[in-house]
Amino acid sequence: MVFPDFTATQDAFPRRLDGKAVPRTHIIPAAHGFAFEVKKGEHFRVVDLYGEQVVDFAAWVQDTDLVEKLSMAYTRYHLDGATPAIGEYLWTNKDEPILQIVDDTVKVHDMTFMSCFPEMYAKEGIKHHRSCAGNMAEVMKPYGMSSYLGVTDPFNIFQNTPNYTLKPLGSSKPGDYIEFKAMKDCICAASCCPYDLRGFNGGKVTDVAVVTGIPAME
Ligand SMILES: [Zn+2]
Repeated sequence: MVFPDFTATQDAFPRRLDGKAVPRTHIIPAAHGFAFEVKKGEHFRVVDLYGEQVVDFAAWVQDTDLVEKLSMAYTRYHLDGATPAIGEYLWTNKDEPILQIVDDTVKVHDMTFMSCFPEMYAKEGIKHHRSCAGNMAEVMKPYGMSSYLGVTDPFNIFQNTPNYTLKPLGSSKPGDYIEFKAMKDCICAASCCPYDLRGFNGGKVTDVAVVTGIPAME
């Protein structure tokens, strides 16, 4: 008996014949990044597997040459500076909703800090340290990003840093998650923040997960 070679046709984002995405869990190894595409109307989750792990997140509208993108400035404008609540939106630099938050077990996130970047570690005397900006550029390279300078200001998921504090204020527990609904076809990038100094990220950077293809509960 000959079994078909499924490995030849498997991809990370399989779809059913009706075009709907199949649920998949993608583990992002500690201190690394992950890029994924979602279609308008699809849901996905970012999950903190071990607790106190920040995930820098950015998104770009497909087929715009990475020009239309998630904007924290536009999002702060619409939300009066507050972290979005369930049902509220994240906005693009074209003033359009790109994602809706449909579930959130933490409700504490940051919309003010940039991603950690290579020079930030170099100034601390640490060379070749991974960074969120570097992670995002790495995973966005297939989409045309040539440098971490192309990374937009992130939505820092599970980052509890009100008023620019940089204390290790852990807010997420193992299994906590935030779920989004895509309002447009978009490319998303998530970085498991490698910042392991001064107790940030619980003092130890740990794996996180992205779950794509979640059926909408509506
Ligand atoms: Zn970081």
